[in-house]
Amino acid sequence: MTSSKPTPEEASGRPAAAGESLDFIREIVKADLASGKNGQRVATRFPPEPNGYLHIGHAKSICLNFGIAREFGGTCNLRFDDTNPTKEDVEYVDSIKEDIRWLGFEWSKELYASDYFGQLYDWAEHLIRAGKAYVDESDPDQIREMRGTLTEPGKPSPYRDRPAEESLALFRKMRAGELPDGAMVLRARVDMTSPNLNLRDPIMYRIRRAHHHRTGDAWCIYPMYDWAHGQSDSIEQITHSICTLEFENHRPLYDWFLDNLPAPSHPQQIEFARLNLTYTVMSKRKLLRLVQDRLVSGWDDPRMPTISGLRRRGFTAQSLRAFADRIGVAKRESIVDVALLEHCVREDLNASAPRVMAVLRPLRVVIENYPEDQTEELELPFHPDHPEMGTRKIPFSRELFIERDDFKEDPPKKFFRLAPGREVRLRGGYFIKCTGVVKDPATGEITELRCSYDPATRSGAAPDGRKVKVTIHWVSARHAVEAEVRVYDRLFTDPDPSDRDGKEFTSFLNPASLETLRACKLEPAASSAAPESRWQFERLGYFCADRRDSRPGALVFNRTVSLKDEWARISGADN
Ligand code: ATP
Ligand code: MG
Repeated sequence: MTSSKPTPEEASGRPAAAGESLDFIREIVKADLASGKNGQRVATRFPPEPNGYLHIGHAKSICLNFGIAREFGGTCNLRFDDTNPTKEDVEYVDSIKEDIRWLGFEWSKELYASDYFGQLYDWAEHLIRAGKAYVDESDPDQIREMRGTLTEPGKPSPYRDRPAEESLALFRKMRAGELPDGAMVLRARVDMTSPNLNLRDPIMYRIRRAHHHRTGDAWCIYPMYDWAHGQSDSIEQITHSICTLEFENHRPLYDWFLDNLPAPSHPQQIEFARLNLTYTVMSKRKLLRLVQDRLVSGWDDPRMPTISGLRRRGFTAQSLRAFADRIGVAKRESIVDVALLEHCVREDLNASAPRVMAVLRPLRVVIENYPEDQTEELELPFHPDHPEMGTRKIPFSRELFIERDDFKEDPPKKFFRLAPGREVRLRGGYFIKCTGVVKDPATGEITELRCSYDPATRSGAAPDGRKVKVTIHWVSARHAVEAEVRVYDRLFTDPDPSDRDGKEFTSFLNPASLETLRACKLEPAASSAAPESRWQFERLGYFCADRRDSRPGALVFNRTVSLKDEWARISGADN
């Protein structure tokens, strides 16, 4: 697994300034512009298949395609690759549009491969007439067998040399719905001996009576991806057709189709390495499985690597764009450490999120020498570096909550937080000292701490100069706002949750990826938390008010990330 440290160029963010190095795709685009190719136009597209929600891998492709258009004064279309009606749905179309906009991009045109079904059909007839396509009546098994292997050449189908007129008549029957599903296919007549299997007379159309979310029942034959994709690019006059590496072997076919058609333009296909992340599955098939088997709550479950899941978890669009910049674009497959993605959101939220105190696992503290009916207000800034964000008033009173973890009756050596007889500082104010514990007589569980406070330490320091080792967070019991907090962890426990060693990827699911804590206690400033607002809970991490479930009076927060930055440790970075 590689988790190479980003170069200064990668870390600097885009657009690159003059003289800075560009990735290889931007270099190509720049050179094409300089040489006057494509009439000095830059046109890209992002071509999702609407068969699932977009994930962080798509975000990389979106940042690349839309980013290039933006940086070079070009256009970027959103084209739905909707050639496979049985798996596609408008729900996916809508979510894809929402996610791209949320990421901060706007398409030049919204288009659908299905818009071109008519043109594709006409071009198919063109190829048939030119002797470059034929109708094959072999069944799928025979076709597969005749295709050969990487070491054996393919065998020509007995229908390969049938007269063009015959193929044309049959193709029209296919189109007209006169033949049953799967009865025959249209194949391109390329080269059965090619070492590239994609060129061994690939299938262009199959008969399939399926309702299409846009074209309805107008068609009963549907084009294959390879037949639709390049032609769609050409119709849209795309200049640079950027796709992932698995299409490298399809490029000769992409070019063959365009070379053999009266197509309006011939875009250049350029491949780059897809994003792989540790502890993450990225294929839509697997993500769909997680959703369908209810292993997560839905496509936007905050543990999902989908854009909508990351958003709900509390990731910002800015942090996803920064991540895309830092990983850069390469021609070599690698696996990026998910800690880098977490680092990017931490960096963004550290700079922007207001701070509040929240106690997730409350333990009641009674300050015995503090008057019962008294309240005073301590004050802390919302952000240490942003005075313009203002301050919050934090009520202090006789009864507080602190984190259960911050007390140990019998503290081990390196535990410097609260313990019997020990003094700590409360964030924003006084020193308190533990004078006793109250236990449930039945279970022995500690239910309450007895403490005293030193009125002279309100400033956070003792006039006599005595020191404490630790400052802990707290919330006044009477003033606390209750909230549900969903503490999320990685969805998988294994860095490589693929199907392997006879195990399915689902066997690597983390059973502790979600812990729901009810009755957490927040300082009053958090009571106004709007859905999707992001906060730092001091000492704990970054949290986001859930955009579906949180409402005033019934707050729900998702933990985005803890404060601990694993990436800083791995990469040796100083933050
Ligand atoms: P999956 O394999 O996850 O189902 P896909 O490639 O089938 O994804 P599409 O909807 O066809 O998904 O993808 C739209 C665009 O996003 C394509 O150009 C594809 O190359 C790109 N893309 C998909 N996954 C990744 C990834 N992990 N990294 C970078 N780009 C990706
Ligand atoms: Mg695909």
